[in-house]
Amino acid sequence: MAESTPAVSVVAAGLRAVCPRCGKGPLFRSGLVLRDKCNGCGLGYAFVDSGDGPAVFAIFILGFVILGGALIVEFRLHPPAWVHVVLWGILTPLAAFFLLRVLKATLIALQFKHKAEEGRLGLN
Ligand SMILES: [Zn+2]
Repeated sequence: MAESTPAVSVVAAGLRAVCPRCGKGPLFRSGLVLRDKCNGCGLGYAFVDSGDGPAVFAIFILGFVILGGALIVEFRLHPPAWVHVVLWGILTPLAAFFLLRVLKATLIALQFKHKAEEGRLGLN
């Protein structure tokens, strides 16, 4: 685990999907695939373990927003069913992709800031 204080806030690193230490190098190689290390400061991303956290948060947030949006559209505009299929069928995956990027980058920045790592017994 890296031993330095971050130069960028957790929120800024998450929103911009950049390195949690220097705030300059991009965090992802493509899509949601992490780089091996930061291009700016050389921080290795081997310590990263965001687990299922981003997906769980994205499910809760998107479930609330997309279902709420679908209900509002239905009761205000009364569109035919195909409009819902096309609208939410396109909007939901796009929103999930961008939300997952932001949430994954934010959780990685939080992990770096708080030096979170797997628990160990202090026996040796
Ligand atoms: Zn960096």
